[in-house]
Amino acid sequence: MLHSIPEQMQAVVVHGPKDYRLETVDVPSPGPGDLLMKVEAVGVCASDLKCWHGAAKFWGDDNRPTYVQTGIIPGHEFVGSVVAGDEAGLAQHGVALGDRVTCEQIVPCEECRYCRRGEYWMCAPHDMFGFRNFNGAMAQYVLVPTRARVHKISAELKAHHAAFVEPLSCALHAVERANIKFGDVVVVAGCGPIGLGLIAGARQKNPMTLVALDLDDNKLELGRRCGADVVLNISKVDAVAEIKKMTDGYGADVYLEGTGHPSAVGQGLNLLRKLGTYVEYSVFGSDVTVDWSIISDDKELDVLGAHLGPNCWPAAVKMLENGAVPVNDICTHQLGLADFQKALDLVADAGGSSVKVSILPNA
Ligand SMILES: [Zn+2]
Ligand SMILES: [Zn+2]
Repeated sequence: MLHSIPEQMQAVVVHGPKDYRLETVDVPSPGPGDLLMKVEAVGVCASDLKCWHGAAKFWGDDNRPTYVQTGIIPGHEFVGSVVAGDEAGLAQHGVALGDRVTCEQIVPCEECRYCRRGEYWMCAPHDMFGFRNFNGAMAQYVLVPTRARVHKISAELKAHHAAFVEPLSCALHAVERANIKFGDVVVVAGCGPIGLGLIAGARQKNPMTLVALDLDDNKLELGRRCGADVVLNISKVDAVAEIKKMTDGYGADVYLEGTGHPSAVGQGLNLLRKLGTYVEYSVFGSDVTVDWSIISDDKELDVLGAHLGPNCWPAAVKMLENGAVPVNDICTHQLGLADFQKALDLVADAGGSSVKVSILPNA
């Protein structure tokens, strides 16, 4: 044991939509094969905000059951140090007491059809830190169960920079789905945390031209720092016309959607060339209506979904450790646990100055 672990801790607890409370709860005690992590930083995700708002994806509707559990501690983008665990747990995860680690957000069951086929990110029960069956990291400590997927990450990074590994791995998976070629014109919609990760990831693939779209010049400047060759403010120019101009009238080869705005879907379908590739990463707050005949009859597009960051964590860790992502510019706000509501409000303020908002529970 590296330091004395208190019996109780501060944690955010989900009671219902728009009802998250800071409470004093017991520090979890690791069972056989588990680890205990002292949380250094946890990123606030757009999905945390959507859950707080009561989105159907989390709280259910006619088409799906409720996913999030009341009583759960939110927070799935986290890093911290291993402060307790038995030999089996340490060996299982390949870590030592004191190591800085991060966990993939999904805790795969290892038993369902998907897990058995190695498609663990689509695990049928879909246990996830901060939403379902495993408490997340908006707390001073978090239990790392045996089944968690743990990765070491350099202690030399600032904690909130290291926690960007979660959105970055998600973005890298979406980029991998796109199967980018050297000659491609790749367009990324949105320069929020996921969009910036998409740009940084697509940069690693070195396509011919990488274009970033957003409504905000400051965020577009960040897009440029992440590696975009061209940035277009879609409140000032017609993105479809600009992309057509850039491509002899054909359109872009690849479109990566990371805004979550319904209007970005039609925009992508319209600016792609025939036989182009559309990758959707976003979670939408409402249904999207588009002309599906663009996908079939007009362009024969490949439309691909992407979820989580399977098998991309080691690359995301490496990119952060190598300084390939301007995290100092991306991680704009760091708050204490008591300010969790303010953190959510900052994420909600889409036109504001925040990009990545993080909570430092032990600061
Ligand atoms: Zn997230
Ligand atoms: Zn499974």
